[in-house]
Amino acid sequence: MKIIKNLLLPIILSSLFCQQANALDVLFPQSNPYKTWSHTTYIMGNVQKGAELLINDEPAKVWNNGAFCHILNLEDGEKEYKLVETYKDENDNTVTNEKIFKIKKMPGAKKITAKPVSPDVPKKIYKPQQPTFTQFEKPKFAYILTDGAPARSYPSTNGERISHLPQKTVVIVEGEYKNWYKIQTNSEPLWVYKNNVKVLYPLDNDLLVTIRRADIFQDEDFSYLQMTLDIPVPYKLTENKDDIELTVWGVYDIAELNKVLKKQKRQTWTIKNYENNVLTLKTTCEEGIWGYDATYDNYTLVLKKKKYPIIYPNNPIKGMTIAVDAGHGGREAGTVGPTRIPEKTVNLAISKQLQAELEKRGANVVMTRTTDKDVEIYSRPKIANDNNAVISISIHANSMVDGNPLERHGVSVFWYNDHAKNLADNIKKSMVEELKLRNDGTRYSSFVLTRPTMPISVLVEVGYMPNPDEYLKLTNPKFQRQAAKAIADGLEKYLKSAQKQIVIEESKVFIPTFIKR
Ligand SMILES: [Zn+2]
Repeated sequence: MKIIKNLLLPIILSSLFCQQANALDVLFPQSNPYKTWSHTTYIMGNVQKGAELLINDEPAKVWNNGAFCHILNLEDGEKEYKLVETYKDENDNTVTNEKIFKIKKMPGAKKITAKPVSPDVPKKIYKPQQPTFTQFEKPKFAYILTDGAPARSYPSTNGERISHLPQKTVVIVEGEYKNWYKIQTNSEPLWVYKNNVKVLYPLDNDLLVTIRRADIFQDEDFSYLQMTLDIPVPYKLTENKDDIELTVWGVYDIAELNKVLKKQKRQTWTIKNYENNVLTLKTTCEEGIWGYDATYDNYTLVLKKKKYPIIYPNNPIKGMTIAVDAGHGGREAGTVGPTRIPEKTVNLAISKQLQAELEKRGANVVMTRTTDKDVEIYSRPKIANDNNAVISISIHANSMVDGNPLERHGVSVFWYNDHAKNLADNIKKSMVEELKLRNDGTRYSSFVLTRPTMPISVLVEVGYMPNPDEYLKLTNPKFQRQAAKAIADGLEKYLKSAQKQIVIEESKVFIPTFIKR
C-alpha cells in the first residue's frame, strides 16, 4: 500500500500543479529563452476567462475567450517579459500566476514589414549562374531510385523543379556538385539529388533511344499520347498559356512517331523542336488546361491530358468531381491557437462544411479524411488523382513565426502551376468579399498539395490562428459554414469564367449512363 501511495502522491500533486500552470498558458514563443532575427514578435496564449493580464506591469488585452496576443517591438539583445495573471476564484480569493519569458533579438535582424504593399506573390524563378562542377572522365549510366525524384535547374533545393522522374528512369550523369549529379541533356542543366540516384558504370558510347511505337487516342475523360522507348529516359512537361509541351532527352529515331502524327485528323500533337537528340512535342489546349500528367508504364511514356469537363451554365459545380483535403490530422496537429484548439480540428470542420456545400450544389466530393486521423502527405494528392478529381482544394489555417499577427492576417490562397492561378484568385476574392477578411494574397508556392498538375490544385489558408479575432471566427461553426460557402462561390465563379464559349443547354446534354453524375 505504501508503494502505491508514494506513487499516487506525485501524480495528484502534478495534476494539481498542471491545472494551476494551465491558467497562464503561453503557446508562442514555443521556447524560453527565445531567440529571433525579427524586429517584431509576439506572446500568445490564454488566461482564465475574465482574468487581468499584465506584461511588464502594463495591462495587456485579453479577449472574451481568455486569448491574448501581445505584440513586442524588440531592441537588440535579451529582454525579460514578466506575465502576471490575476483573477478571483469561486471563493473570491485572488489568484495570481506568473511567468517570465526571455526573448533575445539577434544582431543583424532584418525588419519584416507587417503590411506588404502588394500581398500577392507572383511566380519567380530562381536562376543563378550554374556552379563550376566536377566533370566525370566518362559519363556514367545511372537510374532513379525514388519515384517522383525532382530534377532541378540548379544543384540546390532552391533550384526550379524541371521535372519529377519516375523510379527506374535511366539517366546519364556527366558530373557532380556537392550532393548533386548533373544529368546529360544536350540542352538545359538538370540536376538530381545523389540519394535519389544509383550510379552503375562509365559509358563508352552515347546512350540514345528509338521510339519503337507511338499511339494517340482518347477516352471519356482524357486524351493520351504514348511512346514506347528502348529504356525509360528523362522527360519534362511544360505548361504555356494555351498548350502543353513534352520534352524527351536522348531520342535519336522518331520515324514511328512521325507516322502516327501524320495520321491525326486534327493536329492535336505537333513536333515543336527536334535537335541534338532532344525531342519537344506540343499539344494545344483550346478549351483551357484542365490537368495533365506523364509517367512510365514500363518502357512506355504515357502522357494524359484531361478533357474539358461538362460545365452547366446555371450550375457549374453539378457533376464535377472535387477533392477536399482537410490539412493535418491525427498526430499532426498543425498550428495551435491561443486557447489550444489545433489547426487540424478547424481544417476538418471547414472541410466537412465545404463537402456539404459542394454536394448541395451537385458535386461528387472526395475527402482525404473525414475524421481526426493520420493521412500521409503524399497520399493526399494521390487520393484526389485516383478518384479523377477535376479540382483539389486543401484547407488550412495559417501560423506565424514572429511578426505582428494583429496587422498581418487574413485569407491567402496558394497555387503553383500557372493553370491553377485563376482558381486561386477567384476563391480568394469571394472569401475576402463574403467573409470581410483581410486580403493576404494569391501566393505562388511549392507545396505537396499545390504541385500536382492534375487535378487543378490550390491550398487555402482561411485565416491566421495566432490572431485572436480570426481565431474566434475560425473556431466558430457559423463562420466555418460561411467560409465553406465563400470557397464554393469562388469555385463556381472560376468554372463560369473557364466555361467554353459554346453554351450547352442542360436539357440537351446527353450523359451516358455509365458516367456517375
Ligand atoms: Zn496547416
